[in-house]
Formats: sequence, structure tokens, C-alpha cells
Amino acid sequence: MERLQAVRGMHDTLPGDTTRWRRLEQTVQSVLHSYCYREIRFPIIEKTELFSRSIGAGTDIVNKEMYTFQDRNGEFLTLRPEGTAGCVRALLQHGLIYSGPQRVWYQGPMFRHERPQKGRQRQFYQAGAEAIGIESPDIDAEIILVCARIWNALGINDVCLELNSLGSYNARQGYRNLLIEYLSDHRDQLDDDSTRRLQTNPLRILDSKNPDMQTLLRGAPSLLDSIDNESAEHFSVLRGLLDANGVDYEINPRLVRGLDYYNRTVFEWTTDRLGAQGTICAGGRYDDLVAQVGGKPAPGIGFAMGLERILELMEAGQEEQDADTPRFYQVMAGEGAVKTGFMLAERLRSEMPALKLLLHCGGGSFKSQLRKADKSGADYALILGADEVAQNTVLIKPLRSGEDQYEIPRDKLADEIARLD
Ligand code: ATP
Ligand code: MG
Repeated sequence: MERLQAVRGMHDTLPGDTTRWRRLEQTVQSVLHSYCYREIRFPIIEKTELFSRSIGAGTDIVNKEMYTFQDRNGEFLTLRPEGTAGCVRALLQHGLIYSGPQRVWYQGPMFRHERPQKGRQRQFYQAGAEAIGIESPDIDAEIILVCARIWNALGINDVCLELNSLGSYNARQGYRNLLIEYLSDHRDQLDDDSTRRLQTNPLRILDSKNPDMQTLLRGAPSLLDSIDNESAEHFSVLRGLLDANGVDYEINPRLVRGLDYYNRTVFEWTTDRLGAQGTICAGGRYDDLVAQVGGKPAPGIGFAMGLERILELMEAGQEEQDADTPRFYQVMAGEGAVKTGFMLAERLRSEMPALKLLLHCGGGSFKSQLRKADKSGADYALILGADEVAQNTVLIKPLRSGEDQYEIPRDKLADEIARLD
């Protein structure tokens, strides 16, 4: 029979890699907890309408990347392509939006039907944070400082913060007209995507990954020149807070982000170490989103980081090796050895919960078991044969140091293990 494979663009994380994943996740979580962000979990599947309304009908995600299907009742459902919409939906549904500011974080798989390539999967993991209910730019600064602290904690120091302000929704409409005018004058230079977007969603053209479009856009009017005074002031306070805290940034007036719900602050953290997929984290303010999901308006800002891309930037740590290697390998053969050995191991585990003890299962001679002990990378073999069972002892055989094996009473084993550590 044909051997089944994973779905294209969806990856397995094998045991050798999960330790680094856990280090990444735990670092992200502990930084977020130190800023008093609380974890929230929400379903992987939502009604399709949640995403089409919030992310926006003219966006790549909604137009061509969503995993949408009809369930057995004919309802249109979608595997979440991002976390913010579901997060805001959950907070709204449970009455948490209007009871004071909320700071929350989430983590989990997201799904987008994109062309798989390095740094771009169809199932990928994001960790994100959302702060709802605060309009002032201090929270924008906090959200960005959280990211900076995460990079620092992970030992990642070659990332760059790109920053822009989209202004208010109304100011953006004014800019939209200026942009349409400029691009219409250069219609012959537009690629197919941009020609289509000129009709549907012209601001999206600023987000084009085509280098020719980026060159053309360098001559376009700047979004920052069109934003309203209040947004300009908001942006300036944010910049002051970032400056005061020593966070470097580059203003990128063409940064618009791939989702429609943003206004005012938008940002991306990028690196040139990952080739074309160099954005490791992106976020911004979304003061209209709660209303689009059906609530009374409430401001919000957040970010999402792409964990696979961040993982690529992390050095392999020694703890990865350590976490996957047993410290003791227990070998058992002969009359009564398995039964006594199991009871011994269980007692040790109760007394020393952090002990990494691999119990040999499957029988075999001492010789073959010891070969496996050696291969496991363990530092010591604990050996139980019929003699040790009868004499209430156990043999300890150092596997790495070349020292001789020695025998100790079984009830002294925990002390001896503690001494070896
Ligand atoms: P890109 O421009 O790379 O397509 P995006 O603007 O679509 O990214 P967001 O929706 O802002 O990305 O998601 C936030 C982060 O999630 C990205 O910066 C990236 O690190 C990660 N990400 C997005 N899509 C993918 C994907 N298909 N595979 C892996 N990571 C992804
Ligand atoms: Mg994308």
C-alpha cells in the first residue's frame, strides 16, 4: 500500500526539535507573564464570516489563503488564518471587553493556503498578544517593548523594527485617492496583481512583494504626509517612548500590513538572516475591529510572531542535548529482576521527580541491554540480576568515565544518585 505522507505545507516537529520549541514557547510566555498578559485559548475553527468581516474582503488571506469548508449542517467554517479575530470574538462573547483594559496572549497553529517555501508553511505557529481598551500610545509602546524583550531573552539581536502610522480611517481614504491618482498615471508599469488591486484595494499595493512595484512606489505620495493631526500626535508620543527606552526603529511609510483592520500604529520586526521570509513578527492598532465583530467600538493593539521563523534564528542550546538524554539506564535480567526493578524505579521516581531514568523494556541478555544503555547516552547503568535481587543490592556502572562498577544496598540508591548529581 502507498505510504501516506503529511499534507503539503504542514510539518511534523520531531522529538529532536521539540526541546527548542519548548524553550522558545516558555521564553515568550514568561516575558508576557512578566508584563501581566494572561493566556487565552479559543477554537481553531470559527465561522468564515468572522474572518471575512474583520481581516477584510480585499485581502490575500480572505481571497485566496483560507481553509474554508461547509460542515455537515452546511455552515461555512474556516481554519483560523490568524489569532486576533478569534481572540477579540472570544473576549467580546464573554463580556470581557468593556470591564476595563484586557491584556491577553495566545499561541497555536494557524492555517493559510499559501505556496509552501522556506519560512512559509500552510500550518504554522504564532504566538500573539492583544491589549484591548486603551487608546493612548503608551500601550503601543508597551506592546513593542514586550517584543524587544522577547528577542533579548532569546539571544536574537539582529532584528530591525519597522514602524509606520496609517492614521485614522478617514485620513486613509484621502490618501487612497492620492495613491490611485499616482498609480493610474503609471498604469503601464503595474503588475497584474497591482492592476487588479487598483480597483479593489489600492492600499494593498503598498504591501506588494514585487521589487518593481516597490521601486515604483518609492515615488508615490507618502501615507505619513496624509495622516490626521491626532494620529500624528499619537505617533509622535509613541516614538518618544521608544526613544526614551532605547528601542531603535526605522520609519517605513509604505508599511501597511496584509490585514484590513489596522489603523494608526503598524510595525514589523524583520531580519535579513532568513531570505525572502524575513518578517518574524508583525502587529498594529485595530480600533475598528471590535465594532466589525459586532461590539461597541473599543480600541486595541497587538502583535503576532511567526514561531518557525524565530526558531530558525535561535542557536541550538546545550539543554537540547541534555533534555533528550537519560541520566540512568536500568538493566534487568534474571529471576525476579524485572519485578524488583520496576518497583525500585517507581520508588526512585516518587522520591526524585526530576530524575531521568530510562527503564529497559523488552528483555534480552545483560550484554545486549548494556549495549543499548551505552547507545542511549546515559551516564550510568543501574544493573539488577538475580544475585542483586536476592541480596537487596544494585550495581552502578559508570558508562562514560571508565571507572569500575560498584555495588550498593538498594535502599541507599537514592542517596547515591543524589551524590552523583
Ligand atoms: P508575510 O508577509 O510573510 O506573508 P503576513 O503579513 O501575511 O506575513 P501576518 O499575518 O502579519 O503575516 O502574521 C504574523 C507573522 O506570522 C509573520 O510575520 C510571519 O512571521 C508569520 N507567518 C505568516 N504567514 C506565515 C506562513 N505561511 N508560514 C510561516 N509563518 C508565517
Ligand atoms: Mg502573508
